[in-house]
Amino acid sequence: MLDLLVDHGLVERVAVGDGQSRFERSEAGGEHHHHLLCEQCGKLVAFDDPALERAIDDLSERLGVRVEHHDVVLRGACEQCE
Ligand SMILES: [Zn+2]
Ligand SMILES: [Zn+2]
Repeated sequence: MLDLLVDHGLVERVAVGDGQSRFERSEAGGEHHHHLLCEQCGKLVAFDDPALERAIDDLSERLGVRVEHHDVVLRGACEQCE
């Protein structure tokens, strides 16, 4: 069921490591973004960072790899859990 929603772009699958994924409702238009995962309470927070995008572009040039997709998950403790 969720896979179907992912296929239709209604839900985004976020790989959070250990073979686990979390699902997040995609915004209409689905802006590219990254995630912060709180390892204490499991909260998933979306963020975007133009500097990070540029860094990945530079990296792909330097490594000679055409990066088609990337995902970034930062893990740690959120404000509530710190
Ligand atoms: Zn938390
Ligand atoms: Zn990105």
